[in-house]
Amino acid sequence: MSLFKEIVERSPFGVIVIDKNSKEVIYTNPTFRKWKINERKGFLEKLLNSPRGELEIDGHHYRVSHFTEGDKEIFLLEDITDLKTYQRAKRDFVANVSHELKTPISVIGSIAETLFYEEEDPFKKRFLERILKRAKEMEALVEDLLILAALESKEGKVIWDKVNLHNLVEEVFQNLKEVAEEKKVELLNEVPPETYCTCDEHKIFILLKNLVENAIKYNREGGKVWVRSYPEGEYRVIEVSDTGIGIPKKHLPLIFERFYRVDKSRSREIRGTGLGLSIVKHIALIHGGKVEVESEKGKGSTFRVYIPLKGSPTKEPPKGG
Ligand code: ADP
Repeated sequence: MSLFKEIVERSPFGVIVIDKNSKEVIYTNPTFRKWKINERKGFLEKLLNSPRGELEIDGHHYRVSHFTEGDKEIFLLEDITDLKTYQRAKRDFVANVSHELKTPISVIGSIAETLFYEEEDPFKKRFLERILKRAKEMEALVEDLLILAALESKEGKVIWDKVNLHNLVEEVFQNLKEVAEEKKVELLNEVPPETYCTCDEHKIFILLKNLVENAIKYNREGGKVWVRSYPEGEYRVIEVSDTGIGIPKKHLPLIFERFYRVDKSRSREIRGTGLGLSIVKHIALIHGGKVEVESEKGKGSTFRVYIPLKGSPTKEPPKGG
């Protein structure tokens, strides 16, 4: 047996070769045969319709790679059922813990707030203030974790709708009015009235709220935030720009990772969970879109979200993004 054949025969990957024209199975390796999946009804159609990506057969998950060699279609299948089970368990665990923590944290917060306003001793007041601040931080964290958990569950499915973007931006601005006033940041809605986007209104609201809130938080006093929108190729672009502190180049590829914060010492002063941009990225991806950032330290940042002009079906939730 040739070395090449031996590798294929012993491979932990399932290998199946199909004749391009007749669609007949020419070869399967022992791993593939062990799975007995080609005995399943409709297996071949399922495989041929998902040449890249993933395949689910009878509760088993396979990652599929595909290439063509002459008149042969070659498929490599990796059994990722255990990985999927682990991912689901992790997701459920985070969702359950967040859900259980939500009520006690908000109770601690409201008791601390009541005591803070009633307390007259400045020493005790300082402690109560710190409890209140921490409780609010934990509340924000739990809220973001619950949003991520919802996005990764069935609720994460995109509900396509024709959405008036100008009005949605107004709603987001209303929601963040106090935060902007406190920081003396001007919010400018430059999305022309009657601009429509085919998207999930609630999810794009969450996305915009995160971007605009960051644009305010990481701005300077007296700064500005613009939201614009325009079509570009096959996408509608939603753009959020600010006159803020900017992001150094080396951090740009990392800021969409969960819990990533650019500057730990600066982050201590500016409240945040490090989850906002991963929520933004996740929402863009399940719309079949993407998100990009351009930034210059000290000058400001521009985040661009690309939503396909024609609504597309929900994709598999992205991993870890
Ligand atoms: P956070 O809750 O810390 O704001 P995000 O995921 O929203 O978390 O953002 C990740 C990090 O990216 C932030 O901690 C901040 O350092 C940086 N960042 C995000 N948006 C901006 C912005 N508009 N200007 C400057 N830095 C930003």
